[in-house]
Amino acid sequence: MKPRELVGLTAHQAARLLARREVSAVELTRAVLERIGAVDGKVRAFVTATPDLALEQARLADERLQAGERGPLLGVPAAIKDVICTKGVRTTCSSRMLEGFVPPYDAHVMNRLYQAGLVMVGKTNLDEFAMGSSTENSAFFPTHNPWDVTRVPGGSSGGSAAAVAADECLYALGSDTGGSIRQPAGFCSIVGLKPTYGRVSRYGLVAFASSLDQIGPMAKDVTDCALVLGAISGHDPRDSTSAPNPVPDYTRALVPDLRGLRLGVPREYYAEGMQPEVRQAMEMALTKLQELGATIDREVSLPSTPHALAVYYILAPSEASANLARYDGVKYGFSAPGETMWEAMEHTKQFGFGPEVKRRIMLGTYALSAGYYDAYYLKAQKVRTLIRREFDQVFERCDALVTPTSPTVPFRLGEKAESPLQMYLSDIYTIPVNIAGLPGLTVPAGFVEGLPVGLQLIGKPFSEETLLRVGYAYEQATAWHKRKPSL
Ligand code: GLN
Repeated sequence: MKPRELVGLTAHQAARLLARREVSAVELTRAVLERIGAVDGKVRAFVTATPDLALEQARLADERLQAGERGPLLGVPAAIKDVICTKGVRTTCSSRMLEGFVPPYDAHVMNRLYQAGLVMVGKTNLDEFAMGSSTENSAFFPTHNPWDVTRVPGGSSGGSAAAVAADECLYALGSDTGGSIRQPAGFCSIVGLKPTYGRVSRYGLVAFASSLDQIGPMAKDVTDCALVLGAISGHDPRDSTSAPNPVPDYTRALVPDLRGLRLGVPREYYAEGMQPEVRQAMEMALTKLQELGATIDREVSLPSTPHALAVYYILAPSEASANLARYDGVKYGFSAPGETMWEAMEHTKQFGFGPEVKRRIMLGTYALSAGYYDAYYLKAQKVRTLIRREFDQVFERCDALVTPTSPTVPFRLGEKAESPLQMYLSDIYTIPVNIAGLPGLTVPAGFVEGLPVGLQLIGKPFSEETLLRVGYAYEQATAWHKRKPSL
């Protein structure tokens, strides 16, 4: 197989070749590194490439394979969002603040993936501290959408999404606080899953908004997504929110029919603001899901949906303002000089953080301040409960919900950079899922003039199997996931 064909494989396809020793992990890794060399000048998915480390890990994987060990991710090259701590490899969060920060430990998901045989080819670009929807808020450079390099890849996990779509890795990890896995996955025509809150340990994930953050897989197809989810899920005593629920074999959920499933179409999601072509793609997808045996229920309503964005932009900045207080220039990261300790701290934050991060810190500090706490934070918490309850009710009649992942196809670089509100609106369908702590999956669902459309499936807590089943059946009945950008 030619190097270009090798890098186009899914992880499970590559694992089969590795298991039969038709290709070695080192060969596969070399092909991926070559591909990064060929296209990353245009895509700019990586903040840090780790070719030497990757080859060393590939050699190790080859030894394990030689010794007879087998595993679906053993020796498979992947990329990691640069908000996940990697021991000995700098972890920047695409921020000046952590530009030179080398973690002394690995995140839990890294421990898990190394056990599974990960070959890490690099750390991917993101909106600074995962705040954004286009990867333009990276302090270093923006990432470009492989389907059209004048457009954004989405964000904040834009580097991971673009790297998977451009075959610069076989799968990737992202993080999702309000849509950061699903929106970029949808924009780049790949599969992305935001697990149930608590499904995956956040130990070693640099915190943005702790009641919303989750790590999840970004992959070329639903099967890979199931495999990576299985590898990273499960209880970890180092994250007190990590759930004890047993981890099923997610690949067993992958059956190509949907008989007996009831899929809801929430009215409030199909309202104004959705690009007409996205709506058309959704209608086609709903027809396909029905052909596969699902019952489509259009009488579903989630009335508090219009408040979700406002709730998110109180809660997430509030939590962020607390989490980001640690970057004071004293213990680690960027440190600016000053006459006094306070001045040094002020300068550190002034020069270390970019404009969006500062905006969030100010919003959050304001919402939490004495006299405003009840009006904003407490109120937002109450609406959060309402949103969660409405989902609970809907899931009494439906097995999952079907929505677009984003209201539009990928927008142009610079198009929304000047308007925070326009940017915030691109997460309108993904944010309620984090607010309610639910799992959400996005799968490729078509193209509008060559630009990807994503289909989002939302499920009840710990129903990842149902989402993967629906996603898989839809994927097998369509060919969207097989298309590749020409680059
Ligand atoms: N785009 C949203 C934000 O800016 C969500 C980001 C995320 O999920 N990390 O907060």
